[in-house]
Amino acid sequence: MIVLDSHCDTPSQIMRLRDLSVDNAFGQVDFPKLRRGGVDASFFALFTPASMAPDAATRYALEMIAGVHDAVEACPETVAMAYSPEDIESNKAKGLISILLGMENGSPVQKSLSLLREFYRLGVRYMTLTHNGDNEIADAASHGTRWHGLSPFGREVVAEMNRLGMIIDVAHVSDETFYDCLKYSTKPIVSTHSCCRALAGHRRNMTDDMIRKMADKGGVIQINFYPAFLSGEFDRAYDRACAENPWWDEADNAFRADPADPAKRDAWQKAYAEMAALPKPGVKEIVDHIDHAVKVGGIDHVGIGTDFDGIGVAPAGLENVGCLGIVFDEMQRRGYTSSQIEKVAGLNFLRVFREM
Ligand SMILES: [Zn+2]
Repeated sequence: MIVLDSHCDTPSQIMRLRDLSVDNAFGQVDFPKLRRGGVDASFFALFTPASMAPDAATRYALEMIAGVHDAVEACPETVAMAYSPEDIESNKAKGLISILLGMENGSPVQKSLSLLREFYRLGVRYMTLTHNGDNEIADAASHGTRWHGLSPFGREVVAEMNRLGMIIDVAHVSDETFYDCLKYSTKPIVSTHSCCRALAGHRRNMTDDMIRKMADKGGVIQINFYPAFLSGEFDRAYDRACAENPWWDEADNAFRADPADPAKRDAWQKAYAEMAALPKPGVKEIVDHIDHAVKVGGIDHVGIGTDFDGIGVAPAGLENVGCLGIVFDEMQRRGYTSSQIEKVAGLNFLRVFREM
């Protein structure tokens, strides 16, 4: 079995000076936790916020790529970079965990297909077209009115990604952008980290129609572990708790701005611990979303994209990626066969990757 996580935001944590070579008491992903969770391949997302100006985003993305390479090179006995499905297989044969690059938000590409190609050359193998804000490429789920889908430049980006073999990721885009990608892409499209809107009404999640049409085109929905996407009830409770505790957000921002200050790190850890204490959904809800996506899209079109290190709160019992195995245990308990579990664990996403 090849276990592949199509989305975590660990590069942002590298920028916050996390050492990935050790088992950190705080944080959701590092190399020892990937090993404990049985992960064979992990896509590290180069996330830039919509609020960041494109020049700053390009620079930040480059810094994150450099940070990932440095972290991987520091642990040659545990991890290695991978740029293709073949790399993942050969790393696994050597007992190494594969680290791959995705880009979350196309802002660093600016309005340049040449920069898009350059990021591909630097190893970026998928791009989430937007984050939580419209950009030059497309509208996002959180806004969605600037272009009413893909921009004219966004259509060029889709065509060039198809030509390069870079996977188009529709997590975070608006519904109109999703349908434009379906229409203009000649290859399968994926969501690297979304859940099912039929079970939790968040606009980041996918409707049954989207799941079905994405599957018809050969794509996959990679189920997100974020409690607010798993459960509408938790989403509302979390919003209330955040409004009552504005210092959580302030502590997070202060730590991001000054990661070398131990007082700021301690304040962030205190905020994180308080958020983690909220009652939240767990493995049952994750597998409910897997079940639903399988029912709608089919067993060949569902996978896992944890979003670890990009989520302020982890699911109950799944505090970090080291606990990932309980998801497959629960699938087995519900009657999934080994070959079905293998598909969801990684083979489905690998199939799309290979097709690209
Ligand atoms: Zn995301």
